[in-house]
Amino acid sequence: MFEDGEDAVLVKFIFVTGGVLSSVGKGIVTASIGKILQVRGYRVSVIKIDPYLNVDCGTMNPYQHGEIFVTEDGGEIDLDLGHYERFLDINLTKDHNITTGQIYWEVIRRERKGDYLGRCVQIVPHITDEIKRRIYMIADREPIDVLLTEVGGTVGDIEGLPYLEAIRQIRLEKGYEHTMFVHVALVPILDVTGEEKTKPLQHSVNELRRIGIQPDVIVARCVRMIGKEAKAKIALFGTIPEEAVFCSYTLPCIYQAPLMLDEQGMGDYIVKRLGLAARKPDWTRWRRIVESFLDAKYEVRVAMVGKYAALADAYVSINEAIKHAAAYCNARAHIDWIEAEEFENPENLKRLSDYDGILIPPGFGARGTEGKIMAADYARRMNIPLLGICFGFQMSIVAFARYVCGLKDANSTENDPDTPNPVIDLMPEQKNVKMLGGTMRLGAQPVRLIPGTLAHRLYGGKAVVMERHRHRWEVNPKYWSILQENGMVFSGFTLDGTRVEIFELPDRYFYMGTQFHPEFKSRPGKPSPPYYGFIKACLDRRLGKPRPEL
Ligand code: GLN
Repeated sequence: MFEDGEDAVLVKFIFVTGGVLSSVGKGIVTASIGKILQVRGYRVSVIKIDPYLNVDCGTMNPYQHGEIFVTEDGGEIDLDLGHYERFLDINLTKDHNITTGQIYWEVIRRERKGDYLGRCVQIVPHITDEIKRRIYMIADREPIDVLLTEVGGTVGDIEGLPYLEAIRQIRLEKGYEHTMFVHVALVPILDVTGEEKTKPLQHSVNELRRIGIQPDVIVARCVRMIGKEAKAKIALFGTIPEEAVFCSYTLPCIYQAPLMLDEQGMGDYIVKRLGLAARKPDWTRWRRIVESFLDAKYEVRVAMVGKYAALADAYVSINEAIKHAAAYCNARAHIDWIEAEEFENPENLKRLSDYDGILIPPGFGARGTEGKIMAADYARRMNIPLLGICFGFQMSIVAFARYVCGLKDANSTENDPDTPNPVIDLMPEQKNVKMLGGTMRLGAQPVRLIPGTLAHRLYGGKAVVMERHRHRWEVNPKYWSILQENGMVFSGFTLDGTRVEIFELPDRYFYMGTQFHPEFKSRPGKPSPPYYGFIKACLDRRLGKPRPEL
């Protein structure tokens, strides 16, 4: 696990905190630092701390929280874990996400068991000890050189305090040369004068210091590269050398971020500061990937017909999966998010003919459903490439049942519990589920592909693939035969053959749906097969080519 002479004690800890505002792109900076170390041959892993009281984000509305990312082991996790997986090409687990709900749950469980007998249970040391235990557990368990931990929220939040206290203690326990604090904060530009204002950042550094943390590195988040003067000011007031101040400015492609930071000297600085051997970075592969995004020759236009259309964060993995596939096909993806409810008025469907492809994303609950069904049917009739993901898969099947199989009132029992034709129904094992947190069919499950189908070809002829799931409903087996008799092909099943995982319509240009979420495994340079098939079809159709031989 460790090289000669090394032991677990030598794992280095980097903590990333945020100031001024949330959503300043700490996740991207954290993932970028990971990449910067990885291209120098260091093995990294990442933890995300979410200071909210939910045990996980599985029960949160994506409008509130952004996308719910699903890990291989079925964790319903913050979307930043998705950035880490995509940037670093690693698979993380539930344990890589720490929430206040989990910490308190564990401490209270121990208190009830009597583990703290005779003592008063307190935030310090009991809560902070549990936080440290979870961070050390990952550091001890994995064959890594550096463990990055991103503390969610903004310095000064009440919920974040125990975490900052815990990482302050880790500095004491592990020592200066094994720990590093990186603070990411917004530097706004004043409209009137065009000046970069560092004062809010300075205040957030002061707030960190008040808690006992002196940052080692400061990353100024700004729309453009900050000037010399701002950099000097940040260094002076932050009490760090100028070479420890970096700027994360807005870029056309997020995958450029690690290169941008390393060009400013970040990698060499971090490696030196942590006492790691200086190694020459090898950016060859990553640079090639970035170029494939920036130099794309074609464009594909995709309409995403969903419910949280206004908030791009609600579908971040899907957006990225589309972009990965597009870049791989030498194209740039233009994605428009359209509220599904709009298509409840069939007049509006025409709008979809402007697009090269239609994607119906995952979803829950009845609102907007009829619009998704109408859009799926329109794509089939007009022969526009369609990809349906999870709920989108289910609604495309409802559309097919209604408008091809003639089951006019077909529906999912999620939308209409009394539908006479429940083509989509609750999975039997879900019928008695009462507790909603963490009880869906979750995480990586094997999918058996049927030879001779498009899905089988897209997955390179593999017999079985692992894909990540998050659902309670499925295609009702009672309706399999009527769907198949009318031309729908089921091209993927669970291993035991009792559950449909993929459908396709072979007589369409490209029309496919997956019960699982292939977007969670898509990586830049390694697009997910269903997304690749979809985007390739979008592009070929746009270029007036015959149906692609995928
Ligand atoms: N609501 C549907 C189900 O539970 C689809 C879920 C999803 O799209 N992730 O089966």
